[in-house]
Amino acid sequence: MNRELISVIVPCYNEADALKYFFEEIDKVIAKMPEYDFEAIYVDDGSKDATLDILRERASADKLTRYVSFSRNFGKEAGMLAGLKAANGDYAVIMDADLQDPPSLLPEMMALLKEKKCDSVATRRGTRKGEPPIRSFFAKCFYGIVNKISKVKLVSGARDYRLMSRRMVDAVLSMTEYNRFSKGIFEWVGFKTEWITYDNIERVAGQTKWSFWGLFKYSIECIVAFSTAPLAISSLCGIFMFMLSIVGALAIIIRKIVDSYSAVDGWASIVCVILFVGGLQLLCIGVLGQYLSKTYMETKRRPDFIIAETEEDLKD
Ligand code: UDP
Ligand code: MG
Repeated sequence: MNRELISVIVPCYNEADALKYFFEEIDKVIAKMPEYDFEAIYVDDGSKDATLDILRERASADKLTRYVSFSRNFGKEAGMLAGLKAANGDYAVIMDADLQDPPSLLPEMMALLKEKKCDSVATRRGTRKGEPPIRSFFAKCFYGIVNKISKVKLVSGARDYRLMSRRMVDAVLSMTEYNRFSKGIFEWVGFKTEWITYDNIERVAGQTKWSFWGLFKYSIECIVAFSTAPLAISSLCGIFMFMLSIVGALAIIIRKIVDSYSAVDGWASIVCVILFVGGLQLLCIGVLGQYLSKTYMETKRRPDFIIAETEEDLKD
């Protein structure tokens, strides 16, 4: 019988401190799953520390290790995409280098995939323990809004740690958009997915690359990528304001006829109305601008990442 190959994809950005722990863990997992072949593809996302040197060293010592190194930092989305493109496996699994996605869960994920005959086993955090409360609050709001207005349903606390069959990987790769939001893409392509829940785990070393502002921009990107509801909402606001102004105008005319009322005072309220309408218009133009800017970036057809070096380069 043909042995099946599992591709482990690890996006790494400044993970020099975490990688040694990761290698230890992944070696343990590979030893625990002798019935499968493995390849580990590390994507160095333009790290500024010794990450690339560590990967070079590991790749020359360990034949299962491959790596792709970007010419600069392109972000985790680009890293995951590059890993999936490079993967040769019958299965591919994406996991973080900081051990927040415990590699030791892989045998269980693989068993579940086989047992349920599904195409994907994904993971989510059961709790948001160890996260600042304000961050949890915004995360909750975000999931609430997104799941209301977009067609894809995002699972709260879902991580990018996910095992996928070859046909699901091919489906994900067939989505060629430039503005990638993987959590949405994984849901959009469909296929049967099983979920495993585990407790939040702290990073082994190094620091998270997410700032609050970074997360905020990421959530706007998600909404723009998977929903056009904000456009519809701004049109609805426009229609509502238009109707309101007609009703207001009628009221003034009728009052004028009935008791010859003359509007002298009330300029403060007029200023309020002007500010309100002006603000609403800017907001709606801003919403439009978001979509336009995404369309602009898509039409440029820029590559998602540029590869500077891979393990093949070590051979010469
Ligand atoms: N990462 C990356 N490129 C980036 C930022 C992060 O490849 O620009 C990688 C990082 O090395 C890690 C994973 O993405 O393996 C998750 O990053 P992080 O731990 O900072 O995110 P968190 O776990 O806090 O959501
Ligand atoms: Mg992390």
